[in-house]
Amino acid sequence: MSLREVKKIVKAIQTSDGAGVKLKRSMGVPELDFIDPFLMFDEFGSENKDDYIAGFPPHPHRGIETVTYMLAGRFKHEDSTGSKGEMGPGSVQWMTAAGGIIHSEMPIMKEGKLHGFQLWVNMPAKLKMSRPSYQNIEPKEIPEFKDKEKKIKIIAGEYKDKIGPAKGFVDPIYLDIELEKEKNFSYTIPHSHNVFIYLVYGEIKIGSKAHDKLKNSTLISLTNGSSLKISSAKKSQFLIIAGKPIGEPIARGGPFVMNTKQEILKAVQDYHSGNFVQK
Ligand code: FE
Repeated sequence: MSLREVKKIVKAIQTSDGAGVKLKRSMGVPELDFIDPFLMFDEFGSENKDDYIAGFPPHPHRGIETVTYMLAGRFKHEDSTGSKGEMGPGSVQWMTAAGGIIHSEMPIMKEGKLHGFQLWVNMPAKLKMSRPSYQNIEPKEIPEFKDKEKKIKIIAGEYKDKIGPAKGFVDPIYLDIELEKEKNFSYTIPHSHNVFIYLVYGEIKIGSKAHDKLKNSTLISLTNGSSLKISSAKKSQFLIIAGKPIGEPIARGGPFVMNTKQEILKAVQDYHSGNFVQK
């Protein structure tokens, strides 16, 4: 069995999005454009309300899925399909924007800690203009594996006999792992999948080769292989995110990700002429 080794280490950069929400972006940045099928990865988190209170007022998406995973704080969301709801600690919203959605995500907390992640997953060309849909997943629907060494939340994919509720076109795996100090974790991921690790806090080592120390808020892309070995120098929390690459051209235009420049222009035109939303 070949081990997946560290390919690239990307320290998240501080940026802001929406109406000025501070976040740390580690994919969709000059250092790392994408890891097919993933297009962007953000960690948002602060104890200071000024960093998040402005939220994400209504904005469009087309051609992608946005996956929000909350660890702390509370947001309400609303969109052009008529769907609305709240996201609290431990919940996941897997939104398939497909042909077009306009949504808002606003904090309903006035103070306290906000912490979470947003991942953008690309969609295959033949589905980009399909109907939008949603998976709103409550914390109690997410299975958890626990022993003395680790705690694993299975959002998508499997661990032991537990299966995550989130489904996607790229056969996604999304695990949230807390590993105690000086423990080992191994996991088998299909050869077909690209994988990255996001280290939330702590210090870990991946694979068998020497590499720079991996610490807080770092994204690590991995080489191909079948098995993954991670050990912790300190108590650590990290996400394992994997999916089947799509292998199609990527044209980006802010919140739209299509295959060609023309399709991006069409998305902008549709948005401005009021023909954007697919119901
Ligand atoms: Fe959005």
